[in-house]
Amino acid sequence: MTETRETVILGSGCAGLTAAIYTARAGLKPLVLEGHEPGGQLSITTLVENFPGWPDGIQGPELIDNMKKQAERFGATFELAHLNAVEVSAHPMRLQTSVGEIHTRTVIVASGASARWLGLPSEQALIGHGVSSCATCDGFFFRGKDIAVVGGGDSAMEEALFLTRFASKVTVLHRREHFRASKIMLERAIAHPNIELRTNTVVDEVLGVDEKEVKGVKVRDVANGETATLDVAALFLGIGHVPNAAMFAGQIDLDEEGYIKTVNNVFTTRHGEVVPGLFACGDVQDRRYRQAVTAAGSGCMAALEAEKFLEEHGR
Ligand code: NAP
Repeated sequence: MTETRETVILGSGCAGLTAAIYTARAGLKPLVLEGHEPGGQLSITTLVENFPGWPDGIQGPELIDNMKKQAERFGATFELAHLNAVEVSAHPMRLQTSVGEIHTRTVIVASGASARWLGLPSEQALIGHGVSSCATCDGFFFRGKDIAVVGGGDSAMEEALFLTRFASKVTVLHRREHFRASKIMLERAIAHPNIELRTNTVVDEVLGVDEKEVKGVKVRDVANGETATLDVAALFLGIGHVPNAAMFAGQIDLDEEGYIKTVNNVFTTRHGEVVPGLFACGDVQDRRYRQAVTAAGSGCMAALEAEKFLEEHGR
């Protein structure tokens, strides 16, 4: 017979690992399914300077590794596996995973959101070497340099405006004539003397793969087909995030963009009613803050609620 666990955590980024530390310390012996991107978004950044407690900053992968060790010290176990399907109305809940079926009384969903990328091979090769999807994480490294931002929505405008703190010039590259960004954000970007907005422009290639640092981007005007090389030291993607919640579609309430809807911070719902024992934390339910420290905070909340749920329903 399949053993029933107290708690299973889906995802091993900041939210999942914080939930693992708390639930392990509470004696719940959590199993963490590490997911498709073990370590989450922090594991693909470099220096993290805004996580409290590290006055000189800490490398993203090191921070994640520390959290994992901390969770393991209290008895959390890790499996390089992901969720294929879930039955949340069953008690215990049944998870179909890449390593077989798991039964569990509580689930903490911390599967995060993945940055949307253009998908160019040169872009993928230079992630962490001048290609980034996080201006607040990496903008600082390009002080006094020219930078390009891709996107036409609020994220791109926000990144471009933020990057003007460091960059000598920010060029926003948008694939269409019209912007999706809100009027106020667009007007701010237009008004900024160090931001140039280029419409009808797509990126064909990021230069510098051999040198392992961005040496420029090849762009193309989709209106007239003309190509040009933009001399920039970094390329930031602001083309949105994709929440990793597709496996919950039809099981719990998701918003129109696929993020898990939560009430009272971490409680999931189905047709507006709280789903017993199923909690969500971190970027999979947060389209607003998306910071390591906010993800960690909500991971803590989910763990405390899982613990409380198990206490109330007899451990
Ligand atoms: P978004 O509104 O969906 O915009 C994404 C942008 O990226 C669009 O302009 C889109 O182009 C472009 N794009 C998507 N895939 C692309 C590709 N493969 N190649 C080139 N361009 C691509 O996403 P978002 O900007 O992340 O915003 C998401 C939500 O969060 C929105 O509701 C937004 O208002 C909100 N938000 C608000 C703030 C704020 O108010 N401060 C800040 C950030 C986000 P098309 O326009 O051609 O589709």
